[in-house]
Amino acid sequence: MTVKMKRMAFLAVLLMALCMAASALAWKPCQVPHVYEDWKTLREPTCTREGYQRMNCINCNHWEWRNIPKLPHTQGEWTIENEPTCTKRGSKTTNCTVCGTLIRHFIDMVPHEYGEATVTVEPTCTKSGKSEQVCTGCGKVSRKTLDKLGHDYVVDEVTKEPTCTAKGKANATCSRCGSSKTVTLDMLPHEYGEWTILREPKGEKMGRRENVCAVCGKTVREDFFPDGTLYQGMDKCPEVTALQEKLVELGYYDGGTSAGLFGPSTAYGVRRFQKDYGLEQSGVAYPETLEKLEEVWSEKQQ
Ligand SMILES: [Zn+2]
Ligand SMILES: [Zn+2]
Ligand SMILES: [Zn+2]
Ligand SMILES: [Zn+2]
Ligand SMILES: [Zn+2]
Repeated sequence: MTVKMKRMAFLAVLLMALCMAASALAWKPCQVPHVYEDWKTLREPTCTREGYQRMNCINCNHWEWRNIPKLPHTQGEWTIENEPTCTKRGSKTTNCTVCGTLIRHFIDMVPHEYGEATVTVEPTCTKSGKSEQVCTGCGKVSRKTLDKLGHDYVVDEVTKEPTCTAKGKANATCSRCGSSKTVTLDMLPHEYGEWTILREPKGEKMGRRENVCAVCGKTVREDFFPDGTLYQGMDKCPEVTALQEKLVELGYYDGGTSAGLFGPSTAYGVRRFQKDYGLEQSGVAYPETLEKLEEVWSEKQQ
């Protein structure tokens, strides 16, 4: 072989090798869908630059790429740059402990500091007043309206005395401004005395009584039982509940007790109790019945 032929053969082998290497390296599209490995972080992010990650397909040499956002700066000790006032925001600064970047935050304004209120216009009975306060920081003035006081009438002369049938009249004068007017005086209550019995209560029938006003003669009449009597129709009454609870314990009643309602079955229980203890069988719990019931119930407790 000549030198020239040797060189030709060497070049051919080199070309073939290059072609094989090129075809092995060339990107071939995946015939099946890409199947990726997990994301691999190739560069961690810091507070000054983004990081990135890569994920490779296990079937071909395709890969996906994504950025990782920058990390926030790490705040160090804060230094007040400008104190806030009632008219201007303040500011404070710090340096990132990692990269040294200067960080500045604003500080909210502080509220005005108002001193004592000064009354500039005194309010009167009929006119409103004014007051003002000054901020010790910036001198801003805050003004307020003071409500008018209204008259303070005091009765100084009764011109017509009130009775239990008619209103009275009087002159009244304002203690502040001296303005006067006529005022009406409320009627007085009737002056009732002792009740007069027209008919005594008997059994389950209420009695009747009347009362007369000593001044005007107005008469009121009403039905009544003696004070403390419990009778049918009473409702939401704690004394009725107490009566029923005693009747239950002694076996004269088995109905409800919580409502404090005196119904027919309570009256029936009272009547049976009255029969057993020689009292008039009215079904009305007169004071004598209640006394006897208390006595019998107390004995049972011992
Ligand atoms: Zn693939
Ligand atoms: Zn930083
Ligand atoms: Zn201020
Ligand atoms: Zn007045
Ligand atoms: Zn009267």
